[in-house]
Amino acid sequence: MHFKTLIITSCTGEKKFKPENQLLQADFQACDNLSIKEKQLEEYMVTAGDMYTGMQHLRLMEGVKILRDKYGSDVVDVNIVSAGYGLISENRRIAPYEVTFNTMSPKEIVAWSKTLRIKESLSTAIKGYDLILFLLGDKYLRALELPVLTSGDQRLIFFASGTSRKLIPNEPNYFIYEVGQKDAKSFSYGLVALKGYLFKLLAQDLVLNGTGLISQIKDSPDMLSSILDKYRKVPLEQESLFAIEEIAKGVATEKKILPKEKVPTSYVSDAPRAKNYGISMRYFIPEWDDRVDPTYNFIKDESTEGRNPYLHDVYSHEIFDTPNYDGVLISKVKIEESNIKKARVQAVGVHDFIRYPNSKPIMGDCGAFGYITDEEPPYTTEEILDYYEDLGFTQGVSIDHLIVGDFAKDPVERKRRYDITRRNAADFIQKWQTGNFSFEPVGVAQGWDPQSYLESVGELIDMGYKFIALGGVARTPTKQILEILNKVVPIIPDYLQFHLFGVARLDAIPTFRKLGVTSFDSASHLRRAWLGSGSNYFAMDGKTYAAIRIPPVDGHGVRVKKMIEAGIGTKEEFKVLEVNALAALRGFDRGNVTLDDALEAVLTYDEKIGEGREKHADYYRRVLEDQPWKKCDCKICREIGIEVIIFRGNNRNRRRGFHNTYVFYNQFKKIF
Ligand SMILES: [Zn+2]
Repeated sequence: MHFKTLIITSCTGEKKFKPENQLLQADFQACDNLSIKEKQLEEYMVTAGDMYTGMQHLRLMEGVKILRDKYGSDVVDVNIVSAGYGLISENRRIAPYEVTFNTMSPKEIVAWSKTLRIKESLSTAIKGYDLILFLLGDKYLRALELPVLTSGDQRLIFFASGTSRKLIPNEPNYFIYEVGQKDAKSFSYGLVALKGYLFKLLAQDLVLNGTGLISQIKDSPDMLSSILDKYRKVPLEQESLFAIEEIAKGVATEKKILPKEKVPTSYVSDAPRAKNYGISMRYFIPEWDDRVDPTYNFIKDESTEGRNPYLHDVYSHEIFDTPNYDGVLISKVKIEESNIKKARVQAVGVHDFIRYPNSKPIMGDCGAFGYITDEEPPYTTEEILDYYEDLGFTQGVSIDHLIVGDFAKDPVERKRRYDITRRNAADFIQKWQTGNFSFEPVGVAQGWDPQSYLESVGELIDMGYKFIALGGVARTPTKQILEILNKVVPIIPDYLQFHLFGVARLDAIPTFRKLGVTSFDSASHLRRAWLGSGSNYFAMDGKTYAAIRIPPVDGHGVRVKKMIEAGIGTKEEFKVLEVNALAALRGFDRGNVTLDDALEAVLTYDEKIGEGREKHADYYRRVLEDQPWKKCDCKICREIGIEVIIFRGNNRNRRRGFHNTYVFYNQFKKIF
């Protein structure tokens, strides 16, 4: 018979709709009342699966989707403990409500849970399931009033905190996978949504390894640790030398990509000069579809009509007279994200695709982060050699497998990945030498400590590589990168080109160069333009500024649309505030509006969209006082003025990123 899995999760305070007349606890006490009220809320009724928008629920449902896409819709069922409706299926249509167990005392929880008949519903709901996974916090667990009647071979697994133990029976078919603050740190994921995130990781693993794994987990739930541990960004016991600090998206990552750490002075002063010191230092930028509409109308906020983004939109190097980078790095995974893009690149080659001068280098790699959890890289050397050649790359990187995070801790696994990388590099240059290729081969060095990197680089030199790239260090602290380079520098020959993948730390670059590095790549300055809230605009004097957020009411703006749906204001109300804020900023730029009035207009809109004045007031006053866009002589700032500092849509945000790249490149060029 088909193996059946049920997930029991909790309702969340955040819901898709929040109308003023949403249901309250009293409405659920009187059943007649409930159906009348639900009728009034008809327009807001959706299935429970869609109603909850809390992070934990979203991550969980993403995991469920991953499994269903692969194995069909009945691979897993979801029930939700609702503090309003009781235990319900994800398919039940419900109205928005404001009731939660989280604000109730233990006594109140038990009393209310009895009213909702949660315990009875649970024992009915779990019938026929082999495995039941619970993703619940303390208060919702209490509402279950465990134990519940189970049949002999059912397994109940709880993702729960240590303090929840007292609520879960100590019986053979109950298992607790403990999730606490230390795990939030180790997985680099917020505790609030961690259980949902862990389920999503589990789902990804099941897709890679087959559903057979589910029944194994049922039989030996201890396996969960070994399955999930490999996704920890920082090992639990201690940080290993080459732990990934985090891969999570967003603000936190960006902060870590540009650590504020000081370079140890001993490295700076004592660093020996590598034999290849005569070679100049180059900056490559990764290609991530960073284009803007060159004839965008900022006042009407309209894109050029009927444009084909691939042909009409321009890259930063088409705006500036000279590119703000010495080369471009294009990963295979990025090209394959879209079929249109893939077809175009195949038709015209990489240089013509991004309209970048043929005289300037475009390096190609496979994008090892894209297949980091696979057993083996998903490509063969033959196909990759042809791929680089056919698309006209200047340099092509051998197929590597990353050794970071837990992979670096496991002596067997790291050696296995090291060997894969080495074998591929040997195969790559051998076939390159006997074939008729015009691109330059680049060998990747992977390792887990300075000694292993030394051996890797040494082997690549022996194989005949004249261009070597150091992989797996994008998230490694500068101090540890310097330890590797110090170890490697004595064997670097004078002809060697030596690239650092994913590292652009201005204060360390002179030392990197002394230690043999001749190029590096990073897009962090570009992306900071729209990631995080404090430092979106870089000034030439080293200061950074927040961009001023004025999200659009019309068009694709999701944020305001949601607010209108939720009844926080009418579209007209938002529109007035938006128009006022934009007009005040532009008036301020021309000298017709005072700083205080401009700030007031911006913060009034900010407040309406739920940002809170205190969060942005200081940031915005500072940027308006300094007016850094007036001091910048780059083409973007001269052409669009104050629009560059407004956080609003691709055409402003990415242009601000282009400006940041200009500033970074100019600072870099002052050093070299
Ligand atoms: Zn500028």
